[in-house]
Amino acid sequence: MTVFIYCFCLGILMLLFLWSASLALREGFHQIRRLHQIPCSDCEFFTNDYRLKCTVRPCVASTEDAIGCTDFEPKTCFANSCQQHCSRAHKAYAEIPTTNPSVPPLATGIRS
Ligand code: SF4
Repeated sequence: MTVFIYCFCLGILMLLFLWSASLALREGFHQIRRLHQIPCSDCEFFTNDYRLKCTVRPCVASTEDAIGCTDFEPKTCFANSCQQHCSRAHKAYAEIPTTNPSVPPLATGIRS
């Protein structure tokens, strides 16, 4: 009789453990899905700098409050957080000179 009671208690403990583990897994899965809804990493205003994560809404950037942010702008190649990637991806653009050599520089007032 004692063995039966021990087996019964062990079975109950195993069931409770499995139930608790499944609840924890389900909760973790929902939390991860929620965190993946944060749009900041794909936003133009995200700086990828821990000192100022966002130039528009720094207090809510990278938090759950940023989900559904009305200031979200899709990241372009010129975003601060995209500089390294873009310098490699758009190398031809980076090689375009920023000054036009055919146009003489503005008159400085200095005569030679
Ligand atoms: S503007 Fe909104 S979505 Fe974009 S980085 Fe800032 S908080 Fe995130």
